Amino acid sequence: MDLEADTGCLKSMSEWGEFVFNGQKVAPGSRLETALSVGKDPMGQSANIPVQILHGAEKGPTIAVTAAIHGDELNGTGIIHHLVYGDDHIPGTRDDHIDPTQLSGTLILVPVVNVEGMMMGARTTPDGRDLNRLFPGSESGNQSRRLAHALFTKVVKQSDYLIDLHTAPITRMNVPQIRADLDNAKCKKIARAFGTKVIMNSKGPKGSIRREATKAGIPTILLESGTSHRFEPDALENGVLGILNVLSHLDMLKRDIVKPNWRIIVRKFRWVRAPVGGILHTLVVGGSTVKEGETIAYVTDPFGARVDDVLSPVNGYVVGLATTPLVRPGDPIANIVFVREKKIQEILEKEGNGKESQITHDEEVAEQDIDDEDGSTLDETEIST
Ligand SMILES: [Zn+2]
Repeated sequence: MDLEADTGCLKSMSEWGEFVFNGQKVAPGSRLETALSVGKDPMGQSANIPVQILHGAEKGPTIAVTAAIHGDELNGTGIIHHLVYGDDHIPGTRDDHIDPTQLSGTLILVPVVNVEGMMMGARTTPDGRDLNRLFPGSESGNQSRRLAHALFTKVVKQSDYLIDLHTAPITRMNVPQIRADLDNAKCKKIARAFGTKVIMNSKGPKGSIRREATKAGIPTILLESGTSHRFEPDALENGVLGILNVLSHLDMLKRDIVKPNWRIIVRKFRWVRAPVGGILHTLVVGGSTVKEGETIAYVTDPFGARVDDVLSPVNGYVVGLATTPLVRPGDPIANIVFVREKKIQEILEKEGNGKESQITHDEEVAEQDIDDEDGSTLDETEIST
């Protein structure tokens, strides 16, 4: 054993000290599985939010990761499970991604925020509310506001950064994308570090955990990836990689940052909506590049005869797409971000060359800042994610 290294470690451990969560102490280099109590349910059972703390051996920032604020958005839960225990889900094996003894700083992981929503397969809380519009919550408000308050005071406010994990609703899918307030320098840095190919500028709706936490001085980014009600392997893999990238960026882990081989930063974006009601046949997939005027879908009558086409209004990249065929006029069909023609060519080349995977950490990411003046900003109160 290297005595010097050992002594050094002990010294910094004593300087660093225990992490106290909700009255419980966690020693440096260890983990704690615990729960945040939110009172009792109608059957008199204790209602709890599961929380796992990984307290590093060395000093560093505290990062919270929250999943399933919308109870049917399961990918985030899977991401946290894989992040902690690897693909085999067995604690202490070699594929565990994070060992607290090798960690600098602290992770507060909340795999399921909206526990009752998840058990009902519902986005909302049992009182039918959207929890992600009620932050920072209140101690004496309705049950959803109390839940928001417990999470905000005990988890968010204890952290230096927050990563909130979401998916599209069951009727749509989202290509992996980070959403953040890019006017906030710290948000922008960790948004880039996460490493998705698409970054969307958005403060988030009023009352969302992202907006309120950032406002309270905890820079927050949101991951949108895939759809609800399932675990999608690609979404899980990208999500785990992204969180590890952020931890590396903040020097919490000794590990190379893996960057994408291209990136677009989107300031404004638009949804293309169904022109008429009917049965939708989409001709593109999420992650496609499209040309202005290209037919991306058509709508048929109940007998299958084509009644209208849906055209892309811009040269762009499809970052979100409807996945269910029944549409009414105005239903969102595709979220297309404007991309310059030259950049589209570059994307096609890079994706087509089998370099879809990633590049090494010292290469520059070719990046385009998009400000689609013709597009409208996303109305997140209407298009909920
Ligand atoms: Zn969501």
